[in-house]
Amino acid sequence: MNFPRPLFPAFLGLVAFAGAAFGQRTIVVDAGHGGYDRGGVPGQRISEKDKCLDVAQRLKRILQAQGYRVVMTRDSDVFIPLGTRCAIANNYRGASFVSIHFNCASRVGANGIETYYYRGDSAGLAASIHRNVVSISPSENRGIRRRGFYVLRKTAIPSVLVECGFLTNPTEGRLALSADYRQKLAEQIARGINRQPAASSKPLTSSLKSLSLGDDFVKVPPERTSGRRSSKARSHKSSKSTKSKKKKSSKKSSED
Ligand code: ZN
Repeated sequence: MNFPRPLFPAFLGLVAFAGAAFGQRTIVVDAGHGGYDRGGVPGQRISEKDKCLDVAQRLKRILQAQGYRVVMTRDSDVFIPLGTRCAIANNYRGASFVSIHFNCASRVGANGIETYYYRGDSAGLAASIHRNVVSISPSENRGIRRRGFYVLRKTAIPSVLVECGFLTNPTEGRLALSADYRQKLAEQIARGINRQPAASSKPLTSSLKSLSLGDDFVKVPPERTSGRRSSKARSHKSSKSTKSKKKKSSKKSSED
C-alpha cells in the first residue's frame, strides 16, 4: 500500500478501531489436556482429551461463523504446557479465554456441570456460559465456582473453565459419546460467550443449595490460602478422602 508514512500507523489504528466497532472479538479456545496427557483418572474408558478437542473444534466453527476471531491453544492431539496456553491467551488483549474440560471422579455417581472462574472480571462470562450449558443438559447443575486453576490465574484476560459433565458417570459418559450432544454443548458455550439469555434456568443441585450465593454461584474456598493454614484450608478434592465414612455407607458397591 502506498500510504504516506506518517499516515500509515494512523491507518492501522483506524482498522483496529473499525474492527472493535464492528464487534469483532477474539476468543481463545483451550481444549484441555492432549498428547500423553489424556485427562481424567487412570484407567478411565472415555478419553477426556479427545472429547475436549472435539467440543473445542465445534465451538471454533460456530464462533467463526458468527464473525469471531478464534485462536486455538491446540487444534490436534498434542500436549501443550499450561504456561504456553496462558502465554497464547495473553497475546490477545481484549480477548476472552474459554477452557473446555470434562470431569471425572472415582465415584461413578458423581455427575453434573460446573463452571470455574478466578478473577472478578471473569464471573459474568462464567455465569453466562454456565446458565446456557446447564439449560440444555439433562445433567445436574453443580454451580459456578471460584477456583485458582493455573489457566484461570495466569491468564490476563477474562477466563473461564467449563467442566461439561463427568465421563466417569454412565449417563454423562454416554452423552459425551454423542456427537449431537457435543454439538449442543458447543452451541450453548457460544451462546454464553454471546451473553444470550439461557433457554431456562435449572436450580442448583439441592445438596449445593446451602452453599449457594444465589445465581448459581457456589462458595468454594480458594485453592491456595496464602499464609493461613487451618484445618478448613484443605483442598476441596483431597478433603473427600479424609472425611469419607466408608464403613457407614454400606450401599451396594457396583463392580461394573
Ligand atoms: Zn480436564
